[in-house]
Amino acid sequence: MGIRIGIVNSKSFGVYTNAIDRLAKVGEVIKIDVPKNTRGIELAEKLRGIHFIIASVTPLYDREFFENNDDVVMIVRHGIGYDNIDVKAAEEHGVIVARVPGWREREAVAELTIALMLAALRKVVEASNSVKSGRWHERAKYVGRELPSLTVGIIGFGNIGSRVAGILVNGFNAKVVVYDPYVSRAYVERLGCLYVEKLDDLLGQSDIITLHTILTEETKYMINREAFEKMKDGVIIVNTARGELIDTSALIEYIEKGKVAAAALDVVEGEPIDEKHQLLKYSNVIITPHIGAYTYESLIGMDEAVVEAIECYINNKPIDGIVVMPRRRRVLKI
Ligand code: NAD
Repeated sequence: MGIRIGIVNSKSFGVYTNAIDRLAKVGEVIKIDVPKNTRGIELAEKLRGIHFIIASVTPLYDREFFENNDDVVMIVRHGIGYDNIDVKAAEEHGVIVARVPGWREREAVAELTIALMLAALRKVVEASNSVKSGRWHERAKYVGRELPSLTVGIIGFGNIGSRVAGILVNGFNAKVVVYDPYVSRAYVERLGCLYVEKLDDLLGQSDIITLHTILTEETKYMINREAFEKMKDGVIIVNTARGELIDTSALIEYIEKGKVAAAALDVVEGEPIDEKHQLLKYSNVIITPHIGAYTYESLIGMDEAVVEAIECYINNKPIDGIVVMPRRRRVLKI
């Protein structure tokens, strides 16, 4: 048996590039689709005999998966976020975890964030739908706001959050307030934004709140009922980071109460969601199907990064985008 590379649940890997041909020079490339909730032993069985996994946002590679699969030597996320991989368990089992380096997706996600923000502010989707259903005359309903007169709160000032801030400050003259306890005040201020030490300070003064943190135990549901309670009336919520940062039931409650004027989301808790999801009932909610990184520029760069990571492993070269490099690496068994 030779090297086997599994593309697991990714709909976009290799579609716009010659990535699969390049990988075919390394080993056999197999596309594998598993239900999003497959995990543990069941997932380990399904991926038996696969040495390199190219991973999408689903399924979850949990501890039980690593305990029951001896074949995989490296998981490469075809994306930035690796919250669906138990990296501690991977490390303990000698499995390398790599991801696409953040800069490859930065522009794409930042631009979608701005697109969603403007769409929510100017009610673009609602207005377009009204024309499509023969209600042009309702145009006076679609009155929006302008960014220079608003305060935008950015939660998470890393790769993407800082780029969103740059566009807002330099392109729109917006006032930008930042909460990120892991970056310095000086860095935030150098980019023309205001630094706040407490999340509450951001919640209380922002007209728009946009989320750009990674998903961790600390950030899960950071936007919950308590947080909504502290926000301004008429707040707009934008989320292109991870659905689980927001308690969806609380979001629905505050949309119902009218406190949240609009929500524009590229990610939703428990995604993918179907057409019956409660959030889809509201005309002031815009949802895109996790397309933040879906620009040709970004997808080409992402494919390249994944292929390079596997080629570097094979050629014993340093791998870009390493998340976990175990001290004792599992031996490739072929
Ligand atoms: P990053 O690691 O560069 O930045 C994340 C920032 O969050 C860091 O600066 C970190 O200090 C901050 N942070 C961590 N804990 C925090 C907390 N408790 N409160 C406030 N800030 C906190 O990551 P990135 O590349 O900028 O990605 C940001 C998010 O976007 C991630 O969730 C990622 O999964 C998501 N993402 C989504 C898409 C998409 O298609 N929609 C594509 C790429 C990335």
